[in-house]
Amino acid sequence: MKQAGSAVPSGLSTAMLSRRIEVMAVAVRPYLPFVHAAMFVGFLVLLVAPVVLPASPLTEALGEWARWLIWTLWFPLVFLSVLVTGRSWCGVLCPMGAASEWMNRLGPKRDVPRWLRWEGTPIASFLIITILGQTVGVRDYPSAILEVFGLTLLAALAIGFFYGEGQKKRSWCRHACPIGLLLGVFSRLGAVDLVPKRPRPGGDAYDTRGLCPTMIDLRRKTESRHCVMCARCMSPNKSGGLSLRLRGPGEEVARIAQHHPAMSEVWFLFLGTGVALGGFLWLVLPQYQGLRLAAVTWAIGNGHMWLGEPGPSWLMVVHPEAREVFVWLDFFLITAWMVVVMLALAGVLAVLQALGAWLAGRLGATGDFRGRFVALSYQVAPAAMISLLLGLGIDLFKLVPAEAAFPVKTAALTAAVAWGVALGWRILRDMGLGGWRAAAALAPGLASGLVVAAAWWPAVV
Ligand code: SF4
Ligand code: SF4
Repeated sequence: MKQAGSAVPSGLSTAMLSRRIEVMAVAVRPYLPFVHAAMFVGFLVLLVAPVVLPASPLTEALGEWARWLIWTLWFPLVFLSVLVTGRSWCGVLCPMGAASEWMNRLGPKRDVPRWLRWEGTPIASFLIITILGQTVGVRDYPSAILEVFGLTLLAALAIGFFYGEGQKKRSWCRHACPIGLLLGVFSRLGAVDLVPKRPRPGGDAYDTRGLCPTMIDLRRKTESRHCVMCARCMSPNKSGGLSLRLRGPGEEVARIAQHHPAMSEVWFLFLGTGVALGGFLWLVLPQYQGLRLAAVTWAIGNGHMWLGEPGPSWLMVVHPEAREVFVWLDFFLITAWMVVVMLALAGVLAVLQALGAWLAGRLGATGDFRGRFVALSYQVAPAAMISLLLGLGIDLFKLVPAEAAFPVKTAALTAAVAWGVALGWRILRDMGLGGWRAAAALAPGLASGLVVAAAWWPAVV
């Protein structure tokens, strides 16, 4: 089906494939509650058993399994899956989203409060979870996995229980989930979208009364970030609802002005990439150890001996059995390091994109400065995505033979930067710029892709 402002693949085979996928998704839909229930049980066992069962080879193996499943398989693969199937993890498999929705059926279904609807809420939740994950060692210890994912699950249950008018809503997934935010931004790069068969003009809107669990006004949907691919709005044999559309990867970003761009997403791209970078660099850079030594000397010299004491194990790594114990100084230093790196990277990216937006305006691009800044900033998305994958999903690359890992990572980063430039070119073309003018306005965008790639270079080598 043809939609204003979108390049729809016209080949018969594409249309047939889309329809087949639709029919399959609708056929699978009734079984999803069983899938969710099984996932929920498996998730709880992996989370809780290694911590609460008495120590034994079995619990140790379970803990190792939990670690491997989450960091080697789940995180990198779910992250990559958005490019192919959108947020299908959320709608089809995620036990937390499903549990949040179950709670919504039981709860008072209050209006979603303003603080929760604030677009900064999932960004704050992402930053808090990422920093806490680092200080408690979520990649290494089953107790930390239980704490971080358990807290997230409890928050999903509580928000699902209290908030969300109508039936079967997922306020948590729409407004607060840190993973949902991450997947949502990058799903814009993905090759599938659901589009209204009978679109209504006016742009995206919030609808608490419809059947969409994430409160999308279905007939006005133009963006993919909030869609969890639950298939409830699909009816292949009816003229209403949404239909599946296959599209070129990056198409939504290339025409972002027609797909409800958001300043909050841009800040998440900048800050999220920065905080993840900070969390990676303190582990690998010798400069961090130098800084720590200087801080220890300062603390001793000034009589702040309490900074050398271990803190509570819910806030920082305290695992003497593994010979790893953080003291208060570690906690403050890691947190400060992550925040400083985050602000530094976000600042550089914001300045470069602002320069690109200003330059584009001077060279004749349409729109106001804010609109150009937001639209052009999306060109960082591919580099941000691959660098997050290299840093946070580094365990996946351990499955690749050592001699192949370097070329694979280098090729992925290079392709991501090139993809960002290609997207920037198309975004500028959408603003009416071409030729040397577009090339000039693209230079800061290219620089921002290179900055992200350079910052994550330690993850490559
Ligand atoms: S938004 Fe978060 S909780 Fe909801 S389904 Fe997606 S990952 Fe799960
Ligand atoms: S738009 Fe459709 S598939 Fe997407 S979340 Fe809403 S109801 Fe589910």
